Amino acid sequence: MTDTLQIDIHPIEKSRIDTIDFDNLIFGRSFSDHMLSVDYQNGEWQTPQIIPFGDITFSPAMMSLHYGQAIFEGMKAYKSESGEILVFRPEENWKRLNKSAERMCMPAVTEEIFMEGLSELLRLDSAWIPAKEGCSMYIRPFMFSTDGYVGVSPSKGYKFMIFTCPVGAYYTKPIRVRVETKYIRAAHGGVGFSKNAGNYGASLYPTKLATDAGYDQIIWTDASEHQYVEEAGTMNLLFVIDGKLVTAPTGDTILDGVTRKSVIQVARDFGMEVEERQLSIKELTEGITSGRVQEAFGAGTAAVIAPIATIGFDGVDYELPAQSANSFSRRVFTEIDNIKTGKIADTRGWVMTI
Ligand SMILES: *Cc1c(COP(=O)(O)O)cnc(C)c1O
Repeated sequence: MTDTLQIDIHPIEKSRIDTIDFDNLIFGRSFSDHMLSVDYQNGEWQTPQIIPFGDITFSPAMMSLHYGQAIFEGMKAYKSESGEILVFRPEENWKRLNKSAERMCMPAVTEEIFMEGLSELLRLDSAWIPAKEGCSMYIRPFMFSTDGYVGVSPSKGYKFMIFTCPVGAYYTKPIRVRVETKYIRAAHGGVGFSKNAGNYGASLYPTKLATDAGYDQIIWTDASEHQYVEEAGTMNLLFVIDGKLVTAPTGDTILDGVTRKSVIQVARDFGMEVEERQLSIKELTEGITSGRVQEAFGAGTAAVIAPIATIGFDGVDYELPAQSANSFSRRVFTEIDNIKTGKIADTRGWVMTI
């Protein structure tokens, strides 16, 4: 990519990198030296700034705090063995950010600002990208309304930002999930397909009830009948049933995950049959009992692939078989990880090299 966009860069005076213990990274707690910040004013994006990571000031009346115009993305960058910076499918995140923006009455971010801002930021903080196995640079692009105004309406001003976090593994062992049949994440006509902050605020309470009961996450079911599985917390949910990959179709209630679509593509390339269809709790629990359901796992950028050990429903814990070296979830993880880190050829055009 040729860099044509003007970006004002204000580098830090002294890097904080020495204060980070790269052998014990806790997910989402360490932030790299710089961040990208771009203001939207008078109907257009202003010159992007790269500035030291740090606090920002705002009006107590800032509209995003009151009326929820706040959206985000999550993606990852890796260091290849030869030291190149590799970003996994960032155009997908850029497109999805703009889908979320449209639903929330926010301006679209240009591809130039997103990609060149990201590239420049990663170049500047490239020393922060962990090269260690299982580690990566988590990238958090986000946008929020900035006007100080009391009144429910779209803001005129916005800020688009990106910061980055060196991270280790999100989950370290197979997870326990509980089927949620009272609270909902998304209904038809709502904002479930959009990565807007309010969705996550609404998920905290039911998730807390599940974690208090000894589970790691919840499985969301459809809002009208609570019969069909939708997602696992902030991951898409996939199953291997009778040797086929089964996952709910994305629509307005399910987030169109980049990891999910990558897993589906790899499954097809492995010669596996893929069914995007509704899966009822009944079929799931009966299938686990009879052994037809061979695998269950969550898929999302943060955890990548999170194998599920236990699914709790109606007071019963249904136990999935342990993952083996031959499990699809293990093989697909390895394939995607090898592409992301440049260990095998990127035949699908998924990696942006900076
Ligand atoms: C972000 C997210 C996902 C996963 O999407 P990826 O693009 O794979 O990271 C799935 N479900 C929800 C609700 C999410 O917020």
